[in-house]
Amino acid sequence: MPTNPFRTFYVVFTYIIAFTLWWAYLLYAKNETAYTETVELNEIRFRQTNATIDYQSTDDFAKVYSKYKRQKFMILSEGLAFLVLMLLGLLRVRKVFLQEIELAEQQKNFMLSITHELKSPLSSIKLALQTMRKRKLEPDQSERLIGNSLSDIDRLDSLIDNILFAAKIERSETGFSDAETDISELTLHLVQKFYDNKKAIVIDAQIQQGIYMQVDSLAYSSVVINLLENAMKYADANTKVKLRLSTDSSGIIFSVADNGVGIPDDFKTKIFEKFYRIGSEETRSVKGTGLGLYIVKRVTEIYNGRISVTNNQPKGTVFTVTFPQTISASSNN
Ligand code: ADP
Repeated sequence: MPTNPFRTFYVVFTYIIAFTLWWAYLLYAKNETAYTETVELNEIRFRQTNATIDYQSTDDFAKVYSKYKRQKFMILSEGLAFLVLMLLGLLRVRKVFLQEIELAEQQKNFMLSITHELKSPLSSIKLALQTMRKRKLEPDQSERLIGNSLSDIDRLDSLIDNILFAAKIERSETGFSDAETDISELTLHLVQKFYDNKKAIVIDAQIQQGIYMQVDSLAYSSVVINLLENAMKYADANTKVKLRLSTDSSGIIFSVADNGVGIPDDFKTKIFEKFYRIGSEETRSVKGTGLGLYIVKRVTEIYNGRISVTNNQPKGTVFTVTFPQTISASSNN
């Protein structure tokens, strides 16, 4: 975190507070002096004509005293209100300042990660094509290279989809083409792509048949793909990822549970922010852009749904999305 802007902020902050306190003190002292001098002067004048009565028991003194009290109260109360308002304002500025710094840091991380995410699959594909051109390969070797290149292309495709989709969500929330969609079938189709994975993760998918939803199929797919992709990325090898799609009285429930690294409580809200990734680009081993969960949350909100994240047992994470729609949901699974 850059320290310079904050040093300036704290200097200005301290100066303003000291400046306010100093002026309040000056006004307060001036009021005290004015009161003492007025009373002394009036007392001298009064004694010249009334030697027997004490000035401090007169109406004139009562008026001077009440004016002094009023001004004292005004200086203290207004000074205090001003100080409190200024402190609140400065704290707010500090908060916005911190948010801006955090966003700038996340954007920097995003640029670093996206450069890597774009370059590494492209380099692998290039290398595969160069190898196939230079050498006469056995059919199974070619098949392996083509398979790897296709999965690199899939990675690039889903990365570009996420970037374009995030931009679309930012531009307008109404740019979706909603249609009655068999999300049971769509989910099953999307899950198929993930079965063959290098970490030997078993996908246990239980999908209730015949669930329809009024939804943009790309938007719904982005929820399934991002949650499943994360589960596969952050789960340990040789574990099981459980995917469930069902309906109940609250609507449509979609959940993905993994036995991976898990998400500490402190980050359970932050992970949905745009570009937010746990750790820094230097310390992270799993690559990503920090856009996935942001997209999932925004899509869920656009369809009036809710998303929650809880701990799985014995370890890992469960993401649950609930959509309040129950269109044509049949239970013939
Ligand atoms: P990305 O995965 O591209 O970094 P996301 O927005 O999808 O971005 O996720 C944000 C962060 O939330 C990730 O960087 C990761 O630290 C954390 N996260 C998301 N899903 C999981 C999961 N299933 N298990 C553990 N951590 C997760």
